[in-house]
Amino acid sequence: MSCINGETYLNRIDQLHNQVWINGTKITGRLSEHPAFSGAMKSQAALYDLQHDPAYRKVLTFQPANHSGSAGTAYLQPKTRRDLARRRKAFQVWARYSAGMMGRSPDYMNTVVMNFAACAELFGNTRYSTNMRHFYDYCIDNDISLTHTFIQPQVNRSSVYLESSDEPVAARVIDRNSEGIIIHGARLLATQGGMTDEVLVFPSGNFHFDEAYAYAFSIPANTPGLKFICREAFSDGSVPFDHPLSSRFEEVDSIVLFDHVLVPWDRVFLCGDTDIASRLYKDSGFLPQQVHQVTARNIVKTEFVLGVAQSLVDAINVGEYQHIQGKIAEIIIGLETMKALLTASEVNASVDRWGTMTPDRKPLMAAMSYFPKIYPRFIEIIQLIGASGLVSIPRAADFNMENGAELRKYLQSADRDGYEKVRLFRLAWDLSLSGFAGRQVLYERFFFGDPVRLDSGLYNDYDRSAFTRQIKDFLNRAD
Ligand SMILES: Cc1cc2nc3c(=O)[nH]c(=O)nc-3n(C[C@H](O)[C@H](O)[C@H](O)COP(=O)(O)OP(=O)(O)OC[C@H]3O[C@@H](n4cnc5c(N)ncnc54)[C@H](O)[C@@H]3O)c2cc1C
Repeated sequence: MSCINGETYLNRIDQLHNQVWINGTKITGRLSEHPAFSGAMKSQAALYDLQHDPAYRKVLTFQPANHSGSAGTAYLQPKTRRDLARRRKAFQVWARYSAGMMGRSPDYMNTVVMNFAACAELFGNTRYSTNMRHFYDYCIDNDISLTHTFIQPQVNRSSVYLESSDEPVAARVIDRNSEGIIIHGARLLATQGGMTDEVLVFPSGNFHFDEAYAYAFSIPANTPGLKFICREAFSDGSVPFDHPLSSRFEEVDSIVLFDHVLVPWDRVFLCGDTDIASRLYKDSGFLPQQVHQVTARNIVKTEFVLGVAQSLVDAINVGEYQHIQGKIAEIIIGLETMKALLTASEVNASVDRWGTMTPDRKPLMAAMSYFPKIYPRFIEIIQLIGASGLVSIPRAADFNMENGAELRKYLQSADRDGYEKVRLFRLAWDLSLSGFAGRQVLYERFFFGDPVRLDSGLYNDYDRSAFTRQIKDFLNRAD
């Protein structure tokens, strides 16, 4: 088999009958037809279809060695800078489809799998590293979609807290037998939980060096005992006019519960080795490869925000005011900075000890700390430009009723009639004010980790010795 298309993705997930709960109810029918999931699943299916579109096939797929079919470009282990550029182009084709709103488009997790397979020997024990490599092959051959959970429940984040109860809260290994390991407890936070083939579970950053929490594996999302409890959805199946973003790109987040779940040995990548667990992210290309994908997406997202902001300016003709120009300039500066950081990461890429061309982590760490700060400001700028227009937004149905002609007239803007103005402003509302918008801001702030600790990571990782030496030399200058 090779790259799947959208129909295969939808049918496969529907047939898994994953245990997905939402609003207190277990979903029993086709997940792809449930209003909370249909929009995002349709969009995800469209991404898979693009892999077969003659206009995009070349950039979105490649021919992996030792496999009969083609694979998505995110699975390509980059060996050259050209490979990195190829990956970036593929990331951005998919990101454009969702205006950068689908943080968990499959290329995100495919990159995780590619990265850990490339450095599989990090998992130490030959059996585990072999499992990781086999899993990569399996993902390529079947174009597997993945959700993931990398953190523990938010119970007590004090640095001195250690879970001590006999009844696990944070999922841990409670037993092992000839078939595999038994996991019991909860994990956070699986975006797209339930709407993927598999769930990848890796150690959280704060596993406290207890071997019961030092595990990594992937299992089918319909494994007995596995449940996804979803938050309420921000899409109610409305037409795109009403909810232009959430009706299409709402990726529901879920809590993952493991009730004595058996993980077969051939799917275990790590079990009990706290030393490996503590080094996994740092010693692998995880950060640069992931943030390369993320930054490519965030550039596309910023272009979209800039387009919306400028469209608002044009619609109500406020471009002559200096503060408006300044606000648009802020978004442009953000965009150009992100583009420069991504380019720098590729230009200064180097081959790591596993032969993977790895983007330079310094500009990417800067991008990862920078974007969570500028994205909320972008959204504030949309609000500051849109003002009351962001809430003068009747729904599509209102235009079809007897008031339609009046709404077209009274809600007109400088460059378009009321229907078109509301269409634009509903997009700006879904970007800046709706539940979907709020979740996007939270997502960009946190999805890659706590921004405070990301900044600390940058502080600790960035070599500043040359600069302090310069200061010493300067102070010691005789003239
Ligand atoms: C919308 C969204 C989608 C997500 N999707 C996924 C996903 O698909 N898969 C996945 O695995 N994860 C996902 N995450 C989780 C994400 O990785 C975490 O939100 C992130 O790592 C922060 O952890 P936390 O949310 O538990 O926050 P906490 O660690 O509980 O932090 C809460 C607050 O306490 C502070 N704090 C806590 N500990 C410390 C400390 N040691 N030092 C300083 N300050 C501290 C933080 O700065 C923060 O202000 C998602 C998160 C969001 C918001």
